[in-house]
Formats: sequence, C-alpha cells, structure tokens
Amino acid sequence: MERPIDGARYILHCVSVVRRGEGEAMQTCDVAVIGLGLMGSAALDALLSAGVDALGFDPIGPGDNRGSSHGSCRVFRRFNFENDNYTDLSDAALAGWKRLESDSGETILIPSPVLEAGRPGSPMVAASRAAALAKGHADPAWSAAAANREFPAFALPADWDVVVQDGGAILKAEVALRITRSRANERVFPEAAQIDCRPDGVLVRTKTRDIFARQAILALGPWLGRALPKIAPMLEVTRQAVGWFSAARPESVSPDRFPLFILERGPNDIVYGFPDFEQRGVKAAPHNHGPKVDADDWDRPATDAELMQVGNALAQLVPGAAGPIVDRDICLYTNTAPADHRPDKGQEFIIDRWPNSRLIVASPCSGHGAKFAPAIGEKLARLAIDPTYQVEPFFQLSRYSAFA
Ligand SMILES: Cc1cc2nc3c(=O)[nH]c(=O)nc-3n(C[C@H](O)[C@H](O)[C@H](O)COP(=O)(O)OP(=O)(O)OC[C@H]3O[C@@H](n4cnc5c(N)ncnc54)[C@H](O)[C@@H]3O)c2cc1C
Repeated sequence: MERPIDGARYILHCVSVVRRGEGEAMQTCDVAVIGLGLMGSAALDALLSAGVDALGFDPIGPGDNRGSSHGSCRVFRRFNFENDNYTDLSDAALAGWKRLESDSGETILIPSPVLEAGRPGSPMVAASRAAALAKGHADPAWSAAAANREFPAFALPADWDVVVQDGGAILKAEVALRITRSRANERVFPEAAQIDCRPDGVLVRTKTRDIFARQAILALGPWLGRALPKIAPMLEVTRQAVGWFSAARPESVSPDRFPLFILERGPNDIVYGFPDFEQRGVKAAPHNHGPKVDADDWDRPATDAELMQVGNALAQLVPGAAGPIVDRDICLYTNTAPADHRPDKGQEFIIDRWPNSRLIVASPCSGHGAKFAPAIGEKLARLAIDPTYQVEPFFQLSRYSAFA
C-alpha cells in the first residue's frame, strides 16, 4: 500500500539565506497550510474567506483512512466535560458549521440529544452538568429510569448519574471535510510538503515545487511531533478501535429514538456511540486511549479484542444496540499532555505560534477536536493575519515548561 507521508519526512532547518539561482523566480504565498485534515482545511477555508493568498498541501484527501479526520461521523457536544472553557468554542463552531451548511446546501449536523451516564459520582457526568450550569443552562440531570423510558435501547442501572444535553449533533465529518477541501479547490496541492524555516518566512518544498510562504500553519495531526521534535514529548499518538454493531433491536436505535451517548463505567473505561443514522449499525468505540503507535501505523484492522470492552458495555448498558460487529475501523488520537508549567484542567489542545519562527502549530485532537474545526480554523487564520492576536492561555505552548 502506498504511504506517501511516511516517505516525506519533514526537515526543519533554520537557515539565514534563501539560495536561488540568479533570475530564478519562486512562487510565493502569504500563508501555507500544511496538513488538510479537518483543522488545516478549516484554517485554509478561513484564510481564503478573508481574502488571504493562502495555499494548502496534503497528499491525502477525503475518503482516505489515515490520520484522525476520516470516517463518516463525530460527536458534536455543546457542553464539554473535558473543560467548561470549551463551551464558547462549541458555540463559535456551531455558527461556522451552520454557515458551511447554508453555503453548500448540504447537511453537516444532524441534531441529536447527548446522553452521558456513569456510576454514582461519575466525574464525567458531574463535569458535563457543571459546564451546562456554568452557562445558566437548565439542569440537564435526568434519573436513569427516565433515560431508560425515553430511550428504550438503554438499561442504565437505577443509581447511575445521567445528564441529557440538548444542542448536540451527529457531525458528518467526511461531508464537512469534502466541502471545505472542495471550496479551496485549485489552492490545494495534493502533495506532502517539507519545510525550511527562514527568518522572513518558510520555504515549502514538495516533490514538484518550491514555494516561499511568509507564514506556515502546521496542522499535521499525528505527524506533528515528527515535524517539530521539541513538541513530541507533549503529544501521544494512540490507536483507537471503532466498531459498528448490528443492533439487537434495530427499531430502538434509529436517530429519533436513540441519542448520542457516552458512558463512564469507571476510571479509564469510557465508551461512546451513535444512533444508526446510516443503516450501518450502531457505531461505538472506547474513548480511553489505546496503545501508543507511530503516525503511519494505521492499517491493521481493529481486532475483536480491541472492541470487546465496547461490546460488553453495550450488552450491559445498551442491550437494544448490542449485537455482532459488522464493520470496524482504526483512527488515531493525538493526545496533548497536561500542562506542567501553568495549570490547565486537562489535555487542552495546542494552538499557538511556534517560538522564533513564522510557524503556527495546531494539535487539536485528544479525541474531541473535530466538533470545533471551524472555530479552530478561525483561530489559526487570526494567528496568521493579526500579529496582536493571542489564543486563550490554556491553548498556548507556554503552559509547558519546555516553552515557558
Ligand atoms: C476514533 C476517533 C474518534 C473521534 N471522535 C470525535 C468526536 O466524536 N468528536 C470530536 O469532536 N472529535 C473526535 N475525534 C477527534 C477529531 O477527529 C480530531 O480532533 C481531528 O480529526 C483532528 O484533525 P487534524 O486536522 O488535526 O488531524 P488529521 O486529520 O490527522 O490531519 C493531518 C493531516 O496532515 C497531513 N500530513 C501529514 N504529513 C504531511 C506532509 N508532510 N505534508 C502535507 N500534509 C501532511 C495528513 O495527510 C493529514 O491529512 C475523534 C478522533 C478519532 C481518531
């Protein structure tokens, strides 16, 4: 199988002179966006919408199963148990998704309640509830009995904590990626790029061309640590198994009867899933981190053993959705380490300028970045356009001692 990215290792050299032959003209642009998964594509879209002379580079496109953005769907949540700071980002992203829907005439978000449940005292449920209450939202707490009544595929234990938040949606990730990539159209080079940092910009090299960019955004997903070894200790790439389960009671898992769900059975035991909106079964997966892998280690299929925890969770808690595995996938999480210099609540994303360079870096994954893509794209574009703009402190590199 062809692996264009593996062969295209980044080289980050800081040199002082662009060496060109006399009279040789080099193509230039204001901003090069390298890596066009959901984040780079959103950044390129925001830059082009702002009239910036921007170009994008990525050897793979929608439908390819490498990296982190592939597959039909992601969970969109308004209130995020990871950190209540994310609510504003969800709201900004929602506006962005709506704009994209209205521009393209396509559906990107399918509204769906989000049920989050866990054992008594579940930190996840408590944090999600607190995030809703922090915004003055009505209390989303439900009893387990009420949840089982409303969503008959579920059999949650009576003493479990439950919240059901509105404002959630099934995010059609592949549709979103296809739309943003096609909007950039001829501004995209379907090639892997290497970079050389220069004092006044970044030399972007592909197999077929050299382009001088005044700035470059690196949105390389699991490949970012390779491009910038200094950031590698803050990033952990993990292999995440995903399965589709043929529901025992198909009528109970259709989108009108069945919510998006996240279940916390215990520490390091979180399972999430989707209604069967594509007649493919219930997509469900573990949210706890799988084994650490290399960014190019993606093509071994998910095993029964990797999906056993999910199958058990469905059998125990969502019997209407339990059944044989009918399809499977592998996707990579890039998890950011908790800050060691300035406290943050968890594994917040990295979105910032790279010190002493014309580079901007983005690592917004930790298994929950997709929903924010339009808002993160705007932030990346603003970092490139407005020299006075700073992202929120909890996204900055300086929260790590290596960058403080
Ligand atoms: C199983 C799974 C489930 C998830 N579920 C959710 C969810 O429910 N909700 C949610 O909000 N988020 C979810 N996420 C997280 C979300 O999908 C990620 O945050 C998001 O996809 C990250 O996108 P990215 O653009 O940063 O990375 P990627 O999609 O990995 O993009 C990086 C790109 O860089 C390109 N690249 C690499 N090297 C080069 C090079 N040399 N030159 C040019 N291009 C290069 C690659 O080809 C790739 O396209 C999930 C992730 C996974 C894996």
